[in-house]
Amino acid sequence: MDEVLRIAIQKKGRLSEQSLEIIKQCGIKFGADERVLKDRATNFPLEFLYVRDDDIPSYIADGIADIGIVGRNEYDEQGIDLTVLRDLGFAKCRLSIAVPHEFAYKDLLSLEGKRIATSYPRILGKILKEEGVKADLVSVSGAVEITPLVGVADAICDLVSTGATLAMNGLKEVQTIYRSSAVMIGRKEMGSKVKEEILSRLLLRIDAVMKASSYKYVIFNLPEAQLEAVAAVVGGMKSPTVTKLMETGWVSVQIVVAEDTFWEVFEQLKALGAQGILVTAIEKMTE
Ligand code: ATP
Ligand code: ZN
Repeated sequence: MDEVLRIAIQKKGRLSEQSLEIIKQCGIKFGADERVLKDRATNFPLEFLYVRDDDIPSYIADGIADIGIVGRNEYDEQGIDLTVLRDLGFAKCRLSIAVPHEFAYKDLLSLEGKRIATSYPRILGKILKEEGVKADLVSVSGAVEITPLVGVADAICDLVSTGATLAMNGLKEVQTIYRSSAVMIGRKEMGSKVKEEILSRLLLRIDAVMKASSYKYVIFNLPEAQLEAVAAVVGGMKSPTVTKLMETGWVSVQIVVAEDTFWEVFEQLKALGAQGILVTAIEKMTE
């Protein structure tokens, strides 16, 4: 049988859906049956392994899978020596210190000599060490936020996305120590030329998908006399595509705008007399 690249993806949880979505956007087709543990793409040499996210780094290290998608927090906490191939940008969350309301917290030094419950002793331990703080880390695997209530800890360090759970348990988030998003990880050596080639093809597609999602395609009508002013605004990119309109003195212009500068560009275009501004998503994009 032909050699395939095997990717480990979280079977069920916060990473699953978007991990599969990004692979789909790469034009890779596979079955949508969630009950299977293993699946094979029909139009790309990729095999899927659906597992718990905690198992992904060791599966990759052991060669059971070649690459995988996990939260950066999980990867850093396990400390298994792999390589981060791409930061995929989704599943954003932060690792924060939270304390009971009556705790007068100033900075990490306020934790000196305290008991801190966390599921991330490695990440937290490293940061406390860097800051010269000596604290007593209590490793817990779940329900971290109840530990101050039951007297097991004075503070906690836990993943937060909205903070609602903390508030429900009478805690306040006082400091973020680490930020995470989903990363694609892999072994440093794939151990086969074929696998390396499949991986670079996959990464090329992933880059195109990620690049596209950070840009918008903008089409608008413009008095021809304003073309140079517009070209100056959208400078840095290849010259805009310009089409003549039936009405003399008017043109239709097409440009690609980075998401983070979009509103600025939009306002400037309006100010320069652009009309009928149409904004669309870009599905894929390469250099
Ligand atoms: P599994 O059953 O696969 O072990 P899990 O319960 O460990 O699942 P999830 O809760 O699905 O994992 O979270 C997976 C990842 O999603 C986390 O490691 C983290 O990177 C990310 N994440 C995003 N937001 C949050 C959040 N609010 N709380 C926890 N994790 C979050
Ligand atoms: Zn897990």
